[in-house]
Amino acid sequence: MKDAAVVDKKHHELSPSQFDIWAECPCYESSPVVGTAAAEGTRQHGYMEQVLAGEESDKYDDMSAGDKANVEWFCDLVRMHCPATAKIETEQKVVATDGFDILYSGTADAITGPIIYDYKSDREWRSHYYQMAAYAYALMTMRGLKEVRAIVGYGRMRKLSDYTFKREDAERATKMIIAARKDPDRKPRVCDYCAWCHRRNECEAHFEMNAAAVMQSDSGMVLNRADCIAAMNDPMAMGRVLNVISKVESWCEMMRKRAKEMAIEGNVPSGYMLKEQQNKKLTDPVGVYSRLSMIITPQEFNAALHIKVTELREAIARKEKVSAASAKRMLDELCGDLYSVETVAMLRKQKQNGENDHA
Ligand code: SF4
Repeated sequence: MKDAAVVDKKHHELSPSQFDIWAECPCYESSPVVGTAAAEGTRQHGYMEQVLAGEESDKYDDMSAGDKANVEWFCDLVRMHCPATAKIETEQKVVATDGFDILYSGTADAITGPIIYDYKSDREWRSHYYQMAAYAYALMTMRGLKEVRAIVGYGRMRKLSDYTFKREDAERATKMIIAARKDPDRKPRVCDYCAWCHRRNECEAHFEMNAAAVMQSDSGMVLNRADCIAAMNDPMAMGRVLNVISKVESWCEMMRKRAKEMAIEGNVPSGYMLKEQQNKKLTDPVGVYSRLSMIITPQEFNAALHIKVTELREAIARKEKVSAASAKRMLDELCGDLYSVETVAMLRKQKQNGENDHA
């Protein structure tokens, strides 16, 4: 029999899975579109539930052996920590109330007595302290517990985060995030999650960060005409030009995007006009090649497609929510044998003291 509070199945606007992100920026909004990584994570959670229940089915036969092994590692972990007298409860809805209203609700992957477990299919370690504090606090209020342990298992990395919460600590951490999120005057803070934020293109903080880079006139970032002319032959002047270009590039892209949105909304920027053009995209490159293979070579066809490794990396980073370095590693592992490698000269900015190279 489930706890009384457990029966509420409605999705609450405050979900603990967002708490660690709101600790960084209380204005973050997740995208309503479910990405590939999230969909895979959901399936792995389904498999986890099946394994922990000791059931068998063909529902997950198409899951990769690697993903299954990651989930099974986590299930072993749960069984190992499960107190002798406790049973394993999976996918348990936990709800925190203030006595009258629901503060938030979420779903704990597994609970055994006073221990909560959460499986992460992430490719990178991130702190989930506030999410676990919220689960722990909800479980304490539901079951009258004074202390709850929360174990996060990162299957892909075979790593654990292990937290023990006293009630006052869990309550303080949880209520701090709720207050920040509910604050009508909350302000966005640029953080590591901006890249996935649904508000990114209209966020004032994100915009200001880019605009600030353009405005650094008093630190010598703005060029004068002499600099621009001298740069053609003078390495010092060219260095200054490159510094300014690197600062304004992303800002320029953002302004172009906003200008187009304004024009579509009916506010066409002065001196511009809105025109429509039709772009054709190949929906079936393999089919197209089979019809053209008598005319052009595979190399010519590949060149015409203009598939860039950097764009594939960016697509992977976006979809999997991983860093550029991780996306590069993934692509190399999956497709490294399909590349040809060409050595080209590149100009890169010298590192400052203490700066790390994340490329
Ligand atoms: S884009 Fe803005 S609202 Fe979104 S996480 Fe970044 S700072 Fe916060």
